[in-house]
Amino acid sequence: MRLHNKVALVTGALGGIGSAIVRALLAEGARVGLVDLNAEGGRNFEKELKAAGHHVVYVNANVSSFAECETAFNTVAAELGAVDILVNNVGISPKQDGRALKVWEMPPEEWDTVVSVNLSSMFYMTRLATPGMIKKREGRIINMSSVAGKAYCDIVAAHYAATKAALIGATRHWAGELGDYNVTVNALAPGRISTPLLKMVPQETNDAVTQVTALKRLGTPEEVADACVFFASDQARFITGQTLDVAGGWLMT
Ligand code: NAD
Repeated sequence: MRLHNKVALVTGALGGIGSAIVRALLAEGARVGLVDLNAEGGRNFEKELKAAGHHVVYVNANVSSFAECETAFNTVAAELGAVDILVNNVGISPKQDGRALKVWEMPPEEWDTVVSVNLSSMFYMTRLATPGMIKKREGRIINMSSVAGKAYCDIVAAHYAATKAALIGATRHWAGELGDYNVTVNALAPGRISTPLLKMVPQETNDAVTQVTALKRLGTPEEVADACVFFASDQARFITGQTLDVAGGWLMT
């Protein structure tokens, strides 16, 4: 059990990758706060995990609001204890009819929504988690980027690519700021992973990605979760400010 007695908070905890991360953290002995805006799914997931003997709490929140993040963070800390591991996993990639909009088509409201969900939420949660980590002189922050934040990828829109690139910059910057306090900050950059997010993409697009992926398949949420547990564990104690591709060799940079 690599995370015995640790408390983790995962945003977007009901999604394909988020739920796999939750299960992987629990399997290593952590107590886990689940934050999402899928109220019914959240209650059911919480019930299922509690029935299996895990220590979890589900909090319904829209993470694009600082006030909702604050309530969610405080609820998790009150129920499970001070947060040791923050996984800023939430992310959205809106498409219209399965297609990513070009800059000249993009409604400004859609741009703003993606920036607030993918990027601002990560700042809000990190702002809330770091005072406790600094006090403890220990902490792990893992941000969910994407290979689309590192290389041009025409199957996502610019708002998604821009927020995922910005996450990498913030990861490096906060790693520098927090190193004195033994808090590490790293990012994961998944490639194409089989989750509900991909159902919005036409099958032929996923097939085309598979063709140009070195390992010739899509990834699984569990493969991303394994890398997340590694960053959260003591095995990664001397790694900070890094972004790790979990992409099977797609869009290698
Ligand atoms: P998903 O769509 O399966 O899950 C996203 C979760 O976030 C859902 O449970 C949803 O309810 C929740 N959510 C959405 N908006 C929210 C909000 N405002 N407040 C709170 N919760 C909200 O997505 P996924 O495929 O599991 O992706 C997880 C992360 O991995 C994202 O950051 C995504 O960008 C990244 N990623 C995914 C892939 C992939 O191929 N699936 C590739 C690269 C990166």
